[in-house]
Amino acid sequence: MSTSSPIFRFAPSPNGHLHLGHALSALLNCRAAERTGGTCLLRIENIDQTRCTPALEQEMLEDLTWIGARFSGPVLRQSERFDVYRAALERLERDGLTYRSYLTRGEIKRFIADREAEGLVWPRDPDGAPLYPGDRTVLEADEIRRREASDMPFAIRLDMGKALARLGAMPDWWEGPAELGEGEDPARWMEGRRIPAEPAAWGDVVLGRKDCPTSYHLSVVVDDAEQGVTDVLRGQDLYHATSVHRLLQVLLGLPELRYRHHRLILDDEGRKLSKSLASASLRDLRSSGVTEREVMGRIGL
Ligand code: GLU
Repeated sequence: MSTSSPIFRFAPSPNGHLHLGHALSALLNCRAAERTGGTCLLRIENIDQTRCTPALEQEMLEDLTWIGARFSGPVLRQSERFDVYRAALERLERDGLTYRSYLTRGEIKRFIADREAEGLVWPRDPDGAPLYPGDRTVLEADEIRRREASDMPFAIRLDMGKALARLGAMPDWWEGPAELGEGEDPARWMEGRRIPAEPAAWGDVVLGRKDCPTSYHLSVVVDDAEQGVTDVLRGQDLYHATSVHRLLQVLLGLPELRYRHHRLILDDEGRKLSKSLASASLRDLRSSGVTEREVMGRIGL
């Protein structure tokens, strides 16, 4: 791992408006960079070209400026890098670690619902989503061949079993403290511990979506390496995903990073804020007269 000046990043997706949780994440990264003599980069994670729009990106940049988050260097936009992700995906395909998956959401849902109706407890990933059952479990061999010969869209998944068998030892990752207190020695903040990665808990994750040649997991590790990021500081909700990211780094021969996962901002009912729950956005707060200072108070900074 790098011992030179740390490089942090904030990597939002412009598929909705930023909320207080994003404000916390952005500002923790900017502050960590300032206090450690490092830099903080901005990456726009907009692989989903239907939900992420230039207008939302523009509004997101305004919101970040409003709360005082400042970034260095050029902004990296994932929508401009599909070729790079495709190349990474091809490398894993060449290594025999991926497969095409044709099942539709409806087929997966129905198959699992039927198994559960029979009393089976279907395994779920750390986010609570059912693990992918595998085309060969659900479809007849003839049907798989028919789909392969057709132009039906497919996703590309990591064959988790093969990937794990390929490794000499299960990877682990470096996890450090999430917040650097006022006056706290940055050197102490560099003391972390090793966490064993548990990527198997995610099953055969998607690496290439049906609608684009990458996925969140693939592009995040490729871009952290591309931007020379040394320190990832992000919400606790991504803690378990780090296992997958560490695995992909090993499989793709990418450098190891330091990880830290920060507290989440919860709503009055104790749920983490989210765009899908229509949590109050920074824009809503600003237009209702909330000041930047009050935002800091609400996020505990
Ligand atoms: N784009 C992700 C999000 O908005 C963050 C990815 C990351 O920090 O690794 O939740």
